[in-house]
Formats: sequence, C-alpha cells, structure tokens
Amino acid sequence: MSRGNKGKDRKEQGDSRSIWIMISAAVVLGIVIIAMAVQLVRLNRQGEQNKSQIKTEASVDQKKKNTKEAEKPAGTKEPEEEKVRVEHIRKDLDPEKPMVALTFDDGPYDRVTNRIVKVLAKHDSRATFFVVGNRVERYADTMKNAYNKGNQIATHTFDHGDLSKMKKKQIRRELKRAFRVMKKINGENPTMLRPPYGNVNDKMRQTIRIPMIYWNVDTEDWASRNKDKILSRCKSIKDGDIVLMHDLYPSTAAAVEKLVPKLRKKGFQLVTVEELFYYKGIDAKGGKVYFNGR
Ligand SMILES: [Zn+2]
Repeated sequence: MSRGNKGKDRKEQGDSRSIWIMISAAVVLGIVIIAMAVQLVRLNRQGEQNKSQIKTEASVDQKKKNTKEAEKPAGTKEPEEEKVRVEHIRKDLDPEKPMVALTFDDGPYDRVTNRIVKVLAKHDSRATFFVVGNRVERYADTMKNAYNKGNQIATHTFDHGDLSKMKKKQIRRELKRAFRVMKKINGENPTMLRPPYGNVNDKMRQTIRIPMIYWNVDTEDWASRNKDKILSRCKSIKDGDIVLMHDLYPSTAAAVEKLVPKLRKKGFQLVTVEELFYYKGIDAKGGKVYFNGR
C-alpha cells in the first residue's frame, strides 16, 4: 500500500463518516421536525377544543341572557298592562256587605294624594277623587297612578269656579276645559261632577250632562286639619254613605291611613261612587244630585 493509497483510504473513510453523520443528522432533524409537528397539531387541537368550549359556554350564557331577557319584558310589561286593563267597577264585591264611598276634592296633590292612594291599595280599597282641572297637568303622574290603581277620577270643574253664579255658556266652557285636560291623561272623560262649594241651581241641572255627587258625611277636614277630629266625624259611617274629604292636607292623609284599616275591620268595602251606584242599583242621571248610595 502506498502512502497515496493510505491517503485515499483515509479520504474514503472520512467521506463515509461524514455521510453517516449527515444521515444521522437528517434522521434526528426529521424526528425533531415530526415531534414538533405532532406537538403543533396537539396544541392546535387543544386550542380548537378550548375555543369550542368557550363558544359553548358563551352560547349557554347567551341562552341564559336570552331567557332572562325573555323573562324580563314579560315581568315588567305584565303589571303595566294589568294597570291599564284594571277594571274600574270590580265585579267581585259582596253586595250583602256594607259599602262606603270616600271622596276627595280639590286635588290632586302629590304629597297627600299618593299617601291616600297607597293606603287604599294596601287594603284592597278604592275611592273617588274629584280633581280640579287646572292642577291636573302639574300632578298628572299622581292622578294617573290613582286612576291606574282603580280609583275613580271625577271632576270638580277646571278652575273651582262657583257654577251656580255662571251663565250656561260659562258652565259649559268650564266643564269642557276640565274634560279635555283629564281625557288627555286618563284617556276618558269623567262621568261625575262635584259642584264647587256644594252649590247647585236649576241652571246647572239643565246644563250639566253628568250626575252631580254630593255627600252625606262631612268630615270638615279643611276646617279642623286635625286627624282625630276627622276620625271622630267618621265614627258613625253606615252602608251607602258618601264621605267628603280633601286631598290637600297632610292631616287628612293621616286620618285616612287610620280610617281605611278601621273600616275594613268593621267589614266595610271601600268603593268608588261608580261602584256604589252599580251595586246599589242606582242609575245616576245627568244633571241630578245624589247624596248617598241608598
Ligand atoms: Zn272644592
């Protein structure tokens, strides 16, 4: 063997070694690439899974939200619709049990009227409010609330003018203005009038087309402005009575807060004038004056 051959051999040996190294490196590289690819695919799948899990959770949340939203309007809408649909003459009262109609003049007045409406509602009771037309827009919410709770809203004229001192034309104008402002808020015309100052004359009887409602129990709340005095005036309330009060004084509200549960305990049904007439079979006529429901 010459040196040259030796060198050649070495060279060949070196070549085959480097080929071997290259192949090994390629295999290792291949394994690494495959491992990385596998890992990548695994991560990707996991990601997909997570995503779909998030999606499912989100869709569950969305479903929950949807049901909640579906429930919510139903929950909030219903009482409103109920309020609008409230029957103003209840059909479930007992005609055999005593009834009394509390009536309130000169309002509405939020601070007092709302207290009265609240205690009435609490005791399944109603009353009649003879409102002054020029106060109606200012206290529209108060009046609407009373109306929506089933109370009767009737008129006490527009300007609390003395109709007995007016000409027919003036009477008509006074009532027309009162009707217009009330209809705008309640959606209907009042069907009863309480004449201011309790004054009635023939001209009024001829001109006014709705019944005029007097009273037979006068609490004189405007004069005493005293809760106990008002209550003592209500001691002998009987079946069919119409009671006069004014929703202008806090003392009246305080008296009503005591009176309502008291009358309920005695077995009275607290009704609107409309309801009283309905149950007592009184067919109230326009231009006529009524003092009670007997
Ligand atoms: Zn009055």
